[in-house]
Amino acid sequence: MAEKAYPIKIGLEVHGYLNTNEKLFCMCKTRPNLEEKEDKPNSRVCPICTGYPGSKPMAPNMEAMRKLIQISLVLGCKINHKDLIWQRKHYNWADNPKGYQTTISGAHAALPTTKGKFRGIGITECHLEEDPAQWNPETGKINYNRSGLPLIEIVTDPDFKSSEEVIGWLKALVLSLSYIKAIRKNAGIKVDVNVSTYGDRVEMKNLNSLEKIRKAIEYEIVRQIENHKEGIVQKQETLAFDEKLGKTIKMRDKETASDYRFIPDPDLPLIRIDKKLVGKIQKNLPEMPEKKLQKLLKKYSVDKKDAGILTKNLELVEFFEELADGGIDMKKNLSWITIELLRVLNYNSKTLEDEDVDIKPAHLAELINLVNSGKITVLKGKQIMNDFVPKSFAISNHKLEIQSIDKAAIENLCKQVISENQKVVDDFKGGKDASLNYLIGQVMRLSERRADFKVAGECLRKLIK
Ligand SMILES: [Zn+2]
Repeated sequence: MAEKAYPIKIGLEVHGYLNTNEKLFCMCKTRPNLEEKEDKPNSRVCPICTGYPGSKPMAPNMEAMRKLIQISLVLGCKINHKDLIWQRKHYNWADNPKGYQTTISGAHAALPTTKGKFRGIGITECHLEEDPAQWNPETGKINYNRSGLPLIEIVTDPDFKSSEEVIGWLKALVLSLSYIKAIRKNAGIKVDVNVSTYGDRVEMKNLNSLEKIRKAIEYEIVRQIENHKEGIVQKQETLAFDEKLGKTIKMRDKETASDYRFIPDPDLPLIRIDKKLVGKIQKNLPEMPEKKLQKLLKKYSVDKKDAGILTKNLELVEFFEELADGGIDMKKNLSWITIELLRVLNYNSKTLEDEDVDIKPAHLAELINLVNSGKITVLKGKQIMNDFVPKSFAISNHKLEIQSIDKAAIENLCKQVISENQKVVDDFKGGKDASLNYLIGQVMRLSERRADFKVAGECLRKLIK
């Protein structure tokens, strides 16, 4: 599609659940305890987040405010140090028994942030609001566990020109936000997409996967251009994208700010974000993925593919940096991270950022040094690493027998294996190369896996000839 020929403008509203322990205006937990197997409906609720008449909100969750500041800074926004007014955004729906949602944006608001720019796209604003409950229109049941969760809303300028540009930008956004742990990892993000071509803009609500976003944008651009050709004027409206039908369906005419009847919330205090707090948060922000990538390529000469793997996760790239800066030659030993460490983590379905995982770079450095100096075999090193999840350990203190056996001992074992497996030896002599693997396996078994399999192989070949 020759998109550039048309006046395409695409803007996004990205919603994500902030990674906080408690809800925005009450002390209910945002997620079930680790030991709870299932998230029972309505198990994390109180009079505030279920909207009981007479209940009043607590002061806003400061952890959520700090996350808002972090995200805004990453997106290149400046923080406003004016009085911020919480507002009631009214609408009547089964998921919202109070009749309004509390938000820090709206008709009377001083925005918490100024405009910013992230990866070439203007950021109109970043703000905070509470999530409504979850309503199932088929059963009529409502789950209030979600009600009151702190949501961040990131609004972009209509700077995008194509679906590819949107998808690439969203991937970069999610990766950057993962570096500051600002968004709940498993909750995902939801995106409203505005598309305009010749007429007013249309909004497509609640797109929850990149694939859906891509399809919805592409469909909508074509639809609007075709309509324009037929002389149909596009009015402002809200659409839903039906993935099964592969098309957008009209939900309603777009609400305007006056439909929401915004009023300042009398139950909540004005807040003013402290300059010192912002300075402190700014100072503690980690380097962002793009910067890390450049560092890996330039400072550590990692190739592009491996640098891509390492920067997918802040903990992983920091783990790498600690090893490299600690004197390990990471050009030679990179596979201990990109292959071995990821292998044991994946096997255990863990990541370095999991709370119960504690793997120290110093312990892996010790292991790499033991292997490189020949004190343990590569195989033994890998075996020790299997035990590094969830918690690594100093190998010198570990009960494992780390002394590998020397060549002479391996030779003796090879002789024993040859005498006990004459038939297999004959097969090997007869040209069946795979038989050698069986013999090596026997040497490994007798040595309790302390022999170096390469040495064992060479030794067996020499003895059999
Ligand atoms: Zn609550």
